[in-house]
Amino acid sequence: MHPFTYVKATSAAEAVRAITAAGSGARFLAGGTTLYDLMKLNVETPSVVVDINSLAELSNFDTSGSEELIFGALCRMSDVAADARLMRDYPALSESLLAAASQQLRNMASLGGNLLQRTRCAYFRGGEPFACNKRKPGSGCSAREGINRGHALLGASEDCMAVYPGDWATALAVFDAMVDVLGPKGQRTIPLQQLHREPGAAANIETNLDYNELILRIRAPVTPLGRASTYFKIRDRESFAFALASAAVALQMDGDIVRDVRIAIGGVATRPWRARGAEQALLGRPLTERTARASGDAALQGAPATVDNRFRIELCARTVAETLMIAKRRALAR
Ligand code: SF4
Repeated sequence: MHPFTYVKATSAAEAVRAITAAGSGARFLAGGTTLYDLMKLNVETPSVVVDINSLAELSNFDTSGSEELIFGALCRMSDVAADARLMRDYPALSESLLAAASQQLRNMASLGGNLLQRTRCAYFRGGEPFACNKRKPGSGCSAREGINRGHALLGASEDCMAVYPGDWATALAVFDAMVDVLGPKGQRTIPLQQLHREPGAAANIETNLDYNELILRIRAPVTPLGRASTYFKIRDRESFAFALASAAVALQMDGDIVRDVRIAIGGVATRPWRARGAEQALLGRPLTERTARASGDAALQGAPATVDNRFRIELCARTVAETLMIAKRRALAR
C-alpha cells in the first residue's frame, strides 16, 4: 500500500489549483474505475488524489440543443446511454457506451474518465518484471516479442504497440467532438481527434493534456448523420470485454448512393482512429455488400501486422462492412 493524500474539491477551479500545487504525481479521481484498478496493481502510485465527484457543474448533459450535444465530464456512462433522444438521434453514441464494461461499471464510470482510460496491455498492467516503455520509459516493450494478439495494427511505434481500448471515443470521433478542458492558465478546447497521442518515442505520454488540466465537458455538433449511425464491436466474449475490432459509422444516403459517411475504427489502433480512406472509398457510390467490404479493406490498407495480430486485419474489414450495412438499414428505414 502506497500512502497518498486525499483532497476533495468543491469546484473545477479548486480541483485544478489543488492538483497544480501537488505536482505531476497527483491524479484526479472521478468514477475510479481505471485509477483504483491501476493503484491496486501498483502501476499508478499517486502522491495526491483530488476527488472531483462533488462538482455538480460537470454532472449534467443536454442532448436537446439545436447546435450541439453537451456532455459534462462527470456524467455516468449508464445515464447517458439510456437517454431517449440520444438513442433515437445518435444511436452510435448510446451503443458505444452500452458496449463497454458491465452495468455496474457503467453506473460508476464517468464520460471524461472513459476518454482517458489506459491500455489493457497485460505487460503494462502486469508490472515488474515486464519491460514496458509506457510504465517505465526506456525499459523496452515486452509485447514486441511477446503475446501481441490484441495489440495495435495502426499508430504503433517500435517503442509501444498498445491499443487504445475505449469505445466511446471511437464513436465520438465520427461526430467531430471537442473536449473543453480547464488548466491553471484557463480554459481551452481540444478536438477529440487531437486529444490522444500515438506513442512514438514517448509511450508514457498518452494525451495532449497536461497533468493539471481537467476535462470539463465533451461537445459534438448536431448533425443529420446521427440518425443512421451505429457502433458495432467484436470481442472474445459477448460482454465485459475489450474490442478485438470495432467500428462506428454515421451515414447519409441519397437513394442507394452514399451522400455522406463517417467511419472510425476501434480496438486496432493506438488512439481513436478516423478511417478517412474508408470514407473516401464510399462517397458518391452505391452502398452494397461489395462496396462496404472495399471500404473495410481501405480502413486498414498497408497496416503492418505481427504473426499473432494479422487475423484482425480481416476481422476489422468485416466489422466495418457489417457496421456499414447496419447503418444503411437504419438510413433506409427513416
Ligand atoms: Fe508497454 Fe506499450 Fe509495450 Fe505494452 S505495448 S508492453 S504498454 S510499451
